[in-house]
Amino acid sequence: FHCPAPLATGAEIDLPPGAARHVQVLRLQPGDGITLFHGGQGAGDPGGEFDASVLRMGRSDVRVQVGAHHTIEREAPRAVHLLAGITANERMDWLVEKATELGVASITPLVAERSVLKLKGERADKKIAHWQAVAVAACEQCGRNRVPVVHGAVDLAGWLRAHPPAPAQGARLLLSLRAGTGPLHAAAAAAAVVFLSGPEGGLSATEEDLALAQGFAPVTLGPRVLRAETAPLAALAALTLA
Ligand code: SAM
Repeated sequence: FHCPAPLATGAEIDLPPGAARHVQVLRLQPGDGITLFHGGQGAGDPGGEFDASVLRMGRSDVRVQVGAHHTIEREAPRAVHLLAGITANERMDWLVEKATELGVASITPLVAERSVLKLKGERADKKIAHWQAVAVAACEQCGRNRVPVVHGAVDLAGWLRAHPPAPAQGARLLLSLRAGTGPLHAAAAAAAVVFLSGPEGGLSATEEDLALAQGFAPVTLGPRVLRAETAPLAALAALTLA
């Protein structure tokens, strides 16, 4: 269970509401053991997992005692970041869930020129919080103990302004259907990769040209047109499972 509050061996804590609900659905009893993870990203966060045992089941609260810490890493061998065109309806949930299972380091929902869903303001904040919760649930399901960050929605020009090309960032790859794109395994040696992919209608020529001018190399996933959620997942799987 994800427990974003600081965890320390020996402490007694109330589980956060989401985890408490989950424990109640599972009808756990005092004395039952569970595993907690803090979920932070990055080398500065101890990561890993804590044993814990249920002390008390209230109506809506669950109190547990935190036990031993175990240093367990289940991250992918390289940091793969997705800058993915926002897709309509539940397909974006599916993308976030599957990308989390496959070990994505972060997801930035891209408001592309042809995105059907144009996220702005409070609605965008709610959607990002929802996708972050989808990522947490996927971590709980697959046993991942570092939660990938779902960044705020941004358009391509905004993202490029905030992330000017720098060699230390690793490879920047544009998933593109244009003729003359290179094979994906050109990136296989990079320790970190950013994949840029389009929404259902694809990226506009202007967006692709802008990305190419800012250090993105175009790569192909083959001759078939993959759905907007399939393309980044296929690229991610190719690099995290390799
Ligand atoms: N009709 C749109 C077009 O021509 O761009 C199709 C877009 S496709 C559904 C959505 C995104 O997935 C594309 O913008 C691209 O980033 C990626 N994509 C899909 N198939 C791909 C392939 N075979 N190789 C590389 N990228 C692909």
